[in-house]
Amino acid sequence: MAVPQNRTTRSRRDMRRSHDALVAANPAECPNCGELKRPHHVCGACGHYDSREVIAQVAVESDDDAA
Ligand SMILES: [Zn+2]
Repeated sequence: MAVPQNRTTRSRRDMRRSHDALVAANPAECPNCGELKRPHHVCGACGHYDSREVIAQVAVESDDDAA
């Protein structure tokens, strides 16, 4: 089993972790349905992209947010 030759100091450990923060999403409003969606991605609510329907939607939409 590999064993570290030297102890990682608090300073080194924390410097490594300085890049670990998560960045918030940057949602944009869908021009078709107004739902928040990820930029440059197909809208998950209506299946539109670039003002065109690219994913056919089923009649009954499932709502994941509602319990
Ligand atoms: Zn949409």
